[in-house]
Amino acid sequence: MHFLDQAKIYLKSGAGGPGAVSFRREAYVEFGGPDGGDGGRGGDIVFEAVPGLNTLIDFRYAQHFKAPRGKHGMGRNRTGASAKPLVVEVPVGTQVLSEDKEQVLADFTEVGQRLTLLEGGMGGRGNASYKSATNRAPRQHQPGEPGEDMWVWLRLKLLADVGLVGLPNAGKSTFINAVSNARAKVGDYAFTTLVPKLGVVRHKGREFVLADIPGLIAGAAEGAGIGDRFLGHIERCRVLIHLIDISGTGEQDPAGAMRVVEEELEAYGEGLADKPRLVALNKLDLADEELVAGFAEELMAAGAGKVFAVSGATGEGIEPLFDAVLSYLPMKTATETNAAEIDNDEGEEPGEWSPI
Ligand code: GDP
Ligand code: MG
Repeated sequence: MHFLDQAKIYLKSGAGGPGAVSFRREAYVEFGGPDGGDGGRGGDIVFEAVPGLNTLIDFRYAQHFKAPRGKHGMGRNRTGASAKPLVVEVPVGTQVLSEDKEQVLADFTEVGQRLTLLEGGMGGRGNASYKSATNRAPRQHQPGEPGEDMWVWLRLKLLADVGLVGLPNAGKSTFINAVSNARAKVGDYAFTTLVPKLGVVRHKGREFVLADIPGLIAGAAEGAGIGDRFLGHIERCRVLIHLIDISGTGEQDPAGAMRVVEEELEAYGEGLADKPRLVALNKLDLADEELVAGFAEELMAAGAGKVFAVSGATGEGIEPLFDAVLSYLPMKTATETNAAEIDNDEGEEPGEWSPI
C-alpha cells in the first residue's frame, strides 16, 4: 500500500568556532608569543535511515534542524572542540529532494545508510597559526566559517502494515481515530478523500501503520458503491483486522457481516483472502458478555480462527488484539532498537525489516 507522505524541513550545519587571539603569559617569560588555538569544526547535518519508522509525521512537528557550532579556540594553543553532527533519522524509503523538488539529493533504501548532507563550517585559525619569522606577535585570527543551510523536501512511500476492513458503520473510522497516535490523526495527512485513512499506532514500544479501508459492501468487487478500488491498497498489508458490529443495529448479524466481507476479499483475488485476519467484534460497550460469547461462537463456526471483542469507543479489548497484530509484524521498531525505556516483551526475535 503506497501513500505519498512528504514534509519540508530546514537544515543548517554548524558554523566553525572562531580562532583565538592569545599570548602566552607566564611569570618571568617576556614576549611569550602567540598561542591562540583554532576554532573547532561546526557540526555536519547527517541523515540516517533507521528501522521502525514508517512515516514522516514527526517532521510535521520538528521542521528545523540546526547542527551545533564549533567551540572557540583558546589560549595555550588549545583547539576548540568540534561539534557533533546532527543526525536526522528517516524511515527507509525516504528521498531527500531539493527545495524545488527537481533534484533527488539522497535516496535511502536500506537501514543504516548514512549521508552527510551539509558539512559544518571549518573552525577559524587562531593567532598562533599566523606566527612567522617576520610577524612574531600576530593578532590575526579568523572567525569560523559559517554553516550551510537549505530547505529540502522529504518524500516517503508509505506502506500500511495493517488493514482495517468491515462493513460501513462497523466502527472503522472511530477505531482508527481512537487507537492511532493522536499526532498521526488521519486529518493530518493531506490525502484526498479517495485514499484510505491512515494512522500510526504505537503499541508496546512498537509502531505500525493502520489503514482504514472504507467502502467494503456486498458487491464491491463488482463495482458496487465506491467499488473495490481501495482493496488494491491493502494487498500488501501483513494482516487485516476485520471489525464486525455487535450492536445489532446493522443490516447484518455478525456472521452475515463477516461472510459479506469475506466474499468480497475472495472475489477481489490478489491473495487478499489469504491474508491473516483478526476478527474483532466491535462496540463491545453495547453488549453483555453472554451476547459476545454467543456471537464469538457463531463466528468461529462460520470460519473465524480466534475472535476478539473490542470497543473503539472505550478502548476495551484493544490490547490483546494489538498483541496479536504485533505477532504478524516482522519489523523491528526504532524504539526496540534503542531498547532503553521499553519493556522488551519476552525477548521475541524481531525479523529482518525490509521495505516493500
Ligand atoms: P465506519 O463506517 O466503519 O467507519 O464506522 P464509524 O466509525 O463511522 O462508526 C459508525 C457508528 O458507530 C458511529 O455512529 C459511531 O459513533 C458508532 N461507533 C463506532 N464504534 C463504536 C463503539 O465502539 N461503541 C459504540 N457504542 N459506538 C461506536
Ligand atoms: Mg468510516
